[in-house]
Amino acid sequence: MKTRRALVTGGAGFLGSHLCDGLLGEGYRVVAADNLLTGSLGNIEHLRNDSRFEFVQKDVCYPGEWGTLDLDYVLHFASPASPVDYAEHGIETLRVGSYGTFEALETARRCGAKFMMASTSECYGDPAVHPQTETYWGNVNPIGPRSVYDEAKRFSEAVTMAYHRYHQVDTRIVRIFNTYGPRMQINDGRVIPNFMWQALRGENLTVYGDGSQTRSFCYVSDEVDGILRLAGSAEHEPVNIGNPTEFTILDCARKVIASTGSRSQIKFEGLPQDDPKQRRPDISKAKRLLGWEPKVELESGLKLSLEYFRRAVAEKEKRT
Ligand code: NAD
Ligand code: UDP
Repeated sequence: MKTRRALVTGGAGFLGSHLCDGLLGEGYRVVAADNLLTGSLGNIEHLRNDSRFEFVQKDVCYPGEWGTLDLDYVLHFASPASPVDYAEHGIETLRVGSYGTFEALETARRCGAKFMMASTSECYGDPAVHPQTETYWGNVNPIGPRSVYDEAKRFSEAVTMAYHRYHQVDTRIVRIFNTYGPRMQINDGRVIPNFMWQALRGENLTVYGDGSQTRSFCYVSDEVDGILRLAGSAEHEPVNIGNPTEFTILDCARKVIASTGSRSQIKFEGLPQDDPKQRRPDISKAKRLLGWEPKVELESGLKLSLEYFRRAVAEKEKRT
């Protein structure tokens, strides 16, 4: 039987690189395309000598030579994802969520490949419905500082559904909730890498606002398992994949301090504009359709990530 081939855009990123591993594990040959805006070659270093894996350094907003590739799946994961990264690269974020999504969908259409788009809980904005079900349309400020990301992702979802409806592309949309684990960039500004960096250096942990805002953290192996199950399903409408255990950010800071054994204290800083006050996925749909639910709770996930973050801190300290 012919080996199936998948294209992963954003394949040198945190999630994209884990997804490449997962697809290789399922027997795919994998092409990863990435312009290294927020990703790194270090994330795919372990695949360098794997003949089933290929890396192409490329901005996926521009028409590709993918036409020559015989693809069975296109998984569009390219996009800055951390609030600090998308604030810095606002235009690039809007471009990859618009032109990039069109290009990725056109590629899938040309090849007759299946398609998956990495969407986000940010589609729900600062949600007025809690926990968030896929049927909730969200509460997004269309002109605020987070809009470059939120609206790009909402637009991406719209284009994906349009290619499904008008061109019969076999599409899927995964709404990913806060995911963490090894290979996150230590300086990407997201809460777990920030807290790890601070705790491991004995610095005070910066909790924004009063720390009462909530998030639900999914360990990367659970997230990739859910993504692969959805990829194998026939569901075209969005599916939430995230961990439904909800923590305040203050609790999260305390858990990082405990898991690192640090003596760090907590300090409070200003809350960024439009920072969502609460977030927790309703995962009934994923449970019912995919038989999926996460297995790794925050304390265990932090322990599993610790060795990676220790190394990342040491490497960054050596470089500076
Ligand atoms: P990441 O920043 O580690 O990975 C994104 C990758 O996309 C990077 O390698 C970056 O270089 C690449 N990229 C960006 N623009 C590109 C372009 N124009 N052309 C080619 N490559 C480009 O972030 P991540 O956490 O791995 O996120 C991956 C995807 O998952 C994103 O689409 C993100 O929106 C989505 N997501 C992630 C989370 C999470 O908690 N990690 C939550 C919701 C959604
Ligand atoms: N946060 C914080 N301190 C930090 C980084 C983030 O208190 O050093 C807060 C942030 O304000 C938000 C939550 O942690 O309420 C999650 O932030 P992150 O950037 O990881 O992702 P978001 O869910 O906001 O996209």
